[in-house]
Amino acid sequence: MSISYIFIGVILLVVLLIPLAFIGRFLYMLWVGVEVTDMPEKPPQCPHCGRDVEKDWRVCAYCGKPLK
Ligand SMILES: [Zn+2]
Repeated sequence: MSISYIFIGVILLVVLLIPLAFIGRFLYMLWVGVEVTDMPEKPPQCPHCGRDVEKDWRVCAYCGKPLK
């Protein structure tokens, strides 16, 4: 059956592509993201409860107090 051969071929392709995708992404991150990984941006923290908050939050989602 030719259909099963195609099926096996697709599975083999996927099995080979997944590690290639990981390696490619890793190399891409090494190539492009060196500056980003060297200095990761520290997330802002709520001055009231000390939890990580998003930059665009006006009010802390955890304690409900306004952020500066
Ligand atoms: Zn808070």
